[in-house]
Amino acid sequence: MHLKHVLLACVWLFCSLHAGSQPAEKKYTYVHPQMGTTFKITFYSRLDSISSQAIATEIFSKIDSLNLLFSDYLPESELNRLCNQAGNLNWINISSDLWNILDLSNYFTQASSGAFDVSLGAITRLWRKARAMKELPDSTLISNALRSTGHTCVQLNAKQQARIIQAGTRLDLGGIAQGYTADLCLKILRSKGIRRALIDAGGDIAIGDPPPYSSGWLIYFPSCSKDRADHLDSLRLSNCGITTSGATTRYLEVNNIKYSHIIDPRTGWALTENYLVTVQAPNATIADAWATAFNVLGPLGWESIQEEHPELNVWIIKGNY
Ligand code: ADP
Ligand code: MG
Repeated sequence: MHLKHVLLACVWLFCSLHAGSQPAEKKYTYVHPQMGTTFKITFYSRLDSISSQAIATEIFSKIDSLNLLFSDYLPESELNRLCNQAGNLNWINISSDLWNILDLSNYFTQASSGAFDVSLGAITRLWRKARAMKELPDSTLISNALRSTGHTCVQLNAKQQARIIQAGTRLDLGGIAQGYTADLCLKILRSKGIRRALIDAGGDIAIGDPPPYSSGWLIYFPSCSKDRADHLDSLRLSNCGITTSGATTRYLEVNNIKYSHIIDPRTGWALTENYLVTVQAPNATIADAWATAFNVLGPLGWESIQEEHPELNVWIIKGNY
């Protein structure tokens, strides 16, 4: 036999043996509504559909359990039970996930000079009500609520305990919880050997290894104008997080002014200079928190701290939507 034929025969033999021992990777996608959004999980695996479904179910129950910790809507969430103790100087034992997300939140508050602030809960409640009523909130109520905010409010210690020193403080993790949860889902998948995965928590995206034979997952940048169905750009990404944040869907419009669901912590007023901010970061938690912060800080704010944060890629578009 000619050498070329021998080689081809070997390759054929190898491929058939290989194919026989290992099924091809299949793409699986699952969705689960939670935390005011829909979690979409996509991964590639050699597992059969029953085993893949079991993994998705496990991840979804983790998402549900995190919602019971982080929600500011559920009166009995761990977060709200902690807030009910605000003003009480006793330390309270909390779960590791709540401790971690509060610790990260404190970091982002400090790194963004207070632009990212989870202690705005009393204010975000007023704005939620305002959006439902379709009228601006009472400015006296806003200034009173502003007194219960401030980034030094939440104290944590090394014994996995927390306390909120100021009475009346409410916490709102809406600017970070989806990114944090998406990262945790990716971590669970990795722990099961599934690395080619993407978790999309309504635009807060945690990205693992690329799909087979690809350099990365195709991520589209949302277009700024709602009249245009096209996209500004797209990227192929792997092993990172990316988020876009802005007042595209949740806002209050009064007298032709659009009031964002993101609040300026200095004034307690919703942002009216609307940006569409996309942040790519080492993970989805970091991307989520910074995307909220850069809505407040704007392009100049990003420019002023850009050098300190080589881990971030940031795109800020002036919105008119
Ligand atoms: P999206 O829901 O569009 O992903 P974000 O991640 O930017 O938005 O989070 C916005 C949410 O974060 C608000 O709905 C509110 O719950 C909370 N929030 C509002 N302003 C701030 C702020 N300055 N810092 C931290 N969280 C905020
Ligand atoms: Mg955010």
